[in-house]
This record gives sequence, C-alpha cells and structure tokens, in this order.
Amino acid sequence: MTKLDKSVLREFESIVGSNHALQEPDLTAGYTTDWTGRFAGESPMVLRPADASQLAELVKVAASAGISIVPQGGNTGLVGGSVPLDQEILISTLRLDQCEPVDVLAQQVTVGAGATLTKTQTHASRQGLDVGVDLAARDSCTIGGMIATNAGGINVVRYGAMREQVLGIEAVLSDGSIISHLEGLEKDNTGYNFPGLLAGSEGTLGIITKARLRLHPQLTERCSAMIAFNSADDAVAATAQLRRSLPSLHAVEVIFKEAMHLVSQHIGASIPIGADAHAWLVVEVAASTDPTEELAKAIDGLGSLPLDVAVGTDTAARANLWRYREKITEAISTRGTPHKLDVTLGASRLAEFVNEVPALISQIDEGATAVMFGHLGDGNVHVNILGAMGSEPNDKVDDAVLHYVAHLGGSISAEHGIGTAKKEFLHLNRSESELAAFRAIKSALDPNGILNPNVLLPTESL
Ligand SMILES: Cc1cc2nc3c(=O)[nH]c(=O)nc-3n(C[C@H](O)[C@H](O)[C@H](O)COP(=O)(O)OP(=O)(O)OC[C@H]3O[C@@H](n4cnc5c(N)ncnc54)[C@H](O)[C@@H]3O)c2cc1C
Repeated sequence: MTKLDKSVLREFESIVGSNHALQEPDLTAGYTTDWTGRFAGESPMVLRPADASQLAELVKVAASAGISIVPQGGNTGLVGGSVPLDQEILISTLRLDQCEPVDVLAQQVTVGAGATLTKTQTHASRQGLDVGVDLAARDSCTIGGMIATNAGGINVVRYGAMREQVLGIEAVLSDGSIISHLEGLEKDNTGYNFPGLLAGSEGTLGIITKARLRLHPQLTERCSAMIAFNSADDAVAATAQLRRSLPSLHAVEVIFKEAMHLVSQHIGASIPIGADAHAWLVVEVAASTDPTEELAKAIDGLGSLPLDVAVGTDTAARANLWRYREKITEAISTRGTPHKLDVTLGASRLAEFVNEVPALISQIDEGATAVMFGHLGDGNVHVNILGAMGSEPNDKVDDAVLHYVAHLGGSISAEHGIGTAKKEFLHLNRSESELAAFRAIKSALDPNGILNPNVLLPTESL
C-alpha cells in the first residue's frame, strides 16, 4: 500500500521540514483521537504546513500517490470527522494562523484557516469589532474548522451561522490547485459561491487555507438572565416571546434538568434558581447602550411562565450564570463517552421531542440516559446519550432518536455536521436525488476521493 512507501513520506517531509512531519505515536496521538474520545485512528504521518503553497505541494504529492488526506484544525469537532480512521495522512492547519490587519472601513478581516476563534476575536476587538459566531470551544477551534462544519454556537439567533460570516475564501483543491477569492465584496454575483459550497463540506471538497470574514460592531453593554421553568413547553413559549420583544437579543440557551444537575455537581455549585425546575434559559442581551431595562421589561412580559429569574449585570455575575451552560460538554465527558446527537426541531415540535426522548431511549437501553441542552433560540437541542456506568450506549438508541427527529420534521445535524458519526443516517433528511447531487459535486471536485473519504457521504453512495 502506498501509505507505507517511504519515498513518498520523505517527499512530504522535505516539503514541511522534519519538525513538522510527525510519525512517532506519542507526537501524533493528540491528532488521531477526537475530542470526545469516541473516534480514534492512526496516521502514517501528521503534516503541519506553514502556508498555503506548502499545503498545496503536500496535496499534489498525495494525489499523485493516491494517498487520502484528513484535514484538521483544532480537533474539537464532535462527529468524528477530524481524525484519520483508515490510515490517511493528516494535514493540520494550525500553523496557518496569521491575522491580516482588520479592514475597518469594510468591517472585515482576512485570517488564516488555523487561527483560533479566540485569536480572531481578540484581533477584531482591537478595532471595536467582533466575530459573529461564538462557541465554548473558542480557545481551540479554528476558523477553517468552523467554516468546514458551518459552526453555529450561541449567537446564531442574532448573526446566523458561520456560512453567513464568510465573504471570501482561499482553499487547496484535491489536485493541489489553489482557489482564492478574498476581495470581500458584499455583492459579487460572478457565478458559483465557493464560501457557501465549502461551508459545511467537512473537508471533503477542499482544504480551506484563508477566509475573509464579515465582522460586527462590538456590543459592550450586556446583561444576562437565567430563567427557570416548570416545563420544556413553557421554555419554548418564552423563547418565542423574547425573540419578538427583544431587539438586543444576543443568545437564548437552554439547559434541561439532567444537564443542570450534572453541571452543578461538576462545577461544585448549587443550582442558582428553581432547584425543582425542568428547564432553564440563559438569555443574553447586548447593545451599545445599557439593555438591562429592555430585558427586565421583556421578562415581565412573560407573565406567569417563569418559576424564578436571576439577573447578572456585571461581568462576574454574568459569567457566573453562563458557566452553567458553558461547562456542560466538559461535565458530560467526565461521565463517560457520550453519543452526541445534535438536532434541530421546529418550534411547534420541540417540547414534544424533549418530553418523549428519555422514555424512547430507556425502552431500548435501560442503562442509557439523555442529557439535553442547547441553543433554544435556533430550535437546536444537543442530546448527549450516556451509557450505564460510563460505558457506551447501545447504537440502536442513536437510530431511534434520529428516526424520531426525522419523523417530527427536524434535522439530524443542527451545527456539528455529519462526520463519521451520522453519515449512515443522512438519508433521513436528504432524498436520493439530493444525495446523487452531493455525489456529483464530490466527484467533480475530488474525482479520486482522497479528501476526507470517511465523512459525510454514506458508504453505499460512494
Ligand atoms: C466544548 C465544546 C463546545 C462546542 N460548542 C459548539 C457550538 O456551540 N456550536 C458548534 O457548531 N460547534 C460546537 N462545538 C464543536 C466544534 O468546536 C466545532 O465543530 C468547530 O467548528 C470545529 O472546529 P475545529 O477547528 O476544531 O475543527 P476540527 O475538529 O479540526 O475539524 C472539524 C471538521 O472540519 C474539517 N476541517 C478542519 N479544518 C479544515 C480546513 N481548514 N479545511 C477543510 N476542512 C477542515 C475536518 O476535516 C473535520 O471534518 C463544540 C466543541 C466543544 C469541544
């Protein structure tokens, strides 16, 4: 097999230098197991190019030797798409992390694909600007990975997901050619839209090396509230009202009962309000003038829906409320290897889904439990299924939950992507004609199927 051909490995090494061509298992381990610990593989070589032209050279060599490639950014993806599962070489973009000067007039910036979200946010903030997408993995996830997964996060309710932030892109295609369109023109109808095509493509169509991002004025005046509810139905009704009445609405997150109990134990702090509640919203408003009054009025307008409310106006009080939301993923990981199902439901079916899922799961696997939370403003629920005693839950549970989502007209992947974890379920949301169109796009841009071959497209359709 070509992957063991030492001369090809030497060619890779000569492109990036021996310090950036890793082979020793203790050096490659961090790149070959995913964040959840559920997906792990091996790679003959982990390559860390310094720039797009080195990356393009690597792809040319891999293409002519018929070697498959897994692109990787921060390796925080949650669907097993960022690790080599079948002895692919791994190309890490972490050294492509340059941030060009912010274009203040256009409110845009061009950054390398390997720049972390935190680095990009800090860079933009020096000019009073902010990135439209924010998420808890911000210190590690990269702009390239966020585009490749079309990441969502906590501010989609205001600014949309990652696809909406990308005005231009540079990427290396499967033959090693580079496409680059980074002018950042707000209007540019000159044919097919590469940012749109590559957003959500999970490394299957090209390797993103740079992106031109739209920025937003930094909104420094903020107020957060936690609101406790008796039921998922009440939390959904309240979310709809808040969306209507709050122009400064920046985030509406939800924590359901199991998740709240788990996270409060994990951080060693009691549940701040409504100890017997079933759902808690964490709401944030942000504006250029103090939005506290606007939030207070909107919460008053919820009438008898809330059980209790806690408001945080200063940075410390806001952070105290937010840690219950931001520490959940970490808290779940301390209890075993979860199956992460990230789904969207229409507002009218969301409470029904949340109410029915625990019984649906325990009918199939008595030891399995569902820990649910998410971005309620977008109808996005993260269903984390844990097995008894930290063991992995039965795969049939994933099958039942995802079929139920599709039955209710929802999406089996809201924001994490399809990856390896969900590719055999894609047919639940995509028709045979759509899958045929996906295959046509894939084979036009990657005729030999070398770019991330284990993700997104169902096995039988390749
Ligand atoms: C604590 C925590 C919280 C999270 N919260 C959220 C959240 O709120 N919303 C959300 O959407 N996600 C969330 N995630 C998931 C994850 O952070 C996102 O999917 C993120 O976009 C992945 O970025 P990354 O750089 O780590 O990509 P990786 O994990 O390295 O890769 C993800 C996928 O993108 C591909 N890829 C990576 N870089 C490139 C590139 N340059 N070109 C082409 N393909 C590439 C990979 O091959 C893989 O298929 C969370 C994860 C954690 C651990």
